[in-house]
Amino acid sequence: MHYVILDMEWDSAYHKLYKRFVNQILQIGAVKLDENLNIVDIFDVTVKSSISKRVSRRFVELTGITKEMMLDGISLGDAVDKYNTWLGYDTVTITWSNSDLYTIAENEKYLMSGKKFRIDKYLDLQKFIQGELRLLGHEIKSQISLSHAAELLGITTESYDLHTAKDDSLLCAALLKKHYNEAAFENLIKDASSPEFYNELYFKPYYISRISDNLIDKKTLDFYCEKCESKMKRLTKWRYHNNWFNANFVCTDCGKKYVCRVSYKKTYDNLIVKRRILEPKVKQTKENHDAVQSVPTTV
Ligand SMILES: [Zn+2]
Repeated sequence: MHYVILDMEWDSAYHKLYKRFVNQILQIGAVKLDENLNIVDIFDVTVKSSISKRVSRRFVELTGITKEMMLDGISLGDAVDKYNTWLGYDTVTITWSNSDLYTIAENEKYLMSGKKFRIDKYLDLQKFIQGELRLLGHEIKSQISLSHAAELLGITTESYDLHTAKDDSLLCAALLKKHYNEAAFENLIKDASSPEFYNELYFKPYYISRISDNLIDKKTLDFYCEKCESKMKRLTKWRYHNNWFNANFVCTDCGKKYVCRVSYKKTYDNLIVKRRILEPKVKQTKENHDAVQSVPTTV
């Protein structure tokens, strides 16, 4: 078993046949690691676009890959053949965030006439490193960049030519070598040859918006009084607003009223239920409203 960290640089170009912009892969870089995470081989190829004779200015600025370098490259089909041969078997493919997988799928669909990147097993390194950073006490809310993660882990990036496929892969390898955690790592390796892998990849989490949805466990719609713990009576219909169902409840024992809220987020393999019990807001009555209005003004 070995590991391959794969990175790609891509640029958007208009595909006349499909009448749409495609994020065409223009560079493939990868680093092969043995079981002890030592670098054993490096892959680095520049790809010649099949749909454009130029590259965007932003792409040149970010990657340093000029139009001339791109035009000197090999076709994407040849690059992928070469990569698959280099990859070998019994490999876990690793990328920094699974967004690369969407780009691979897009290229396979529009630019590769039936050829495919071979990915047998897969691991999202960003997910793994974010988990490690949380264990170290960092608060990670959104997806973090590779260079930011390196900074948080005390790895200097000066010697890397960031945003080139090869060096981004090398930096990933350095992060992994420094913060390997076998149990967490093994746990994130997925079988990319099973259909479920792609079902999960393309699954978009959503909030349930119909109270009659079969996924809703009716027990989660019951609320209990915070004072006397008895089951409360719902006074209104469930109203759906901003991903939450809301209803007014009353405790038939003590008479206390509450606003109860519940939300259901469907993820690929889970249903996340959140519940809240709130004291009803004190409504501004007509009297104090008038009182505010009737503050005397000096003329
Ligand atoms: Zn009560």
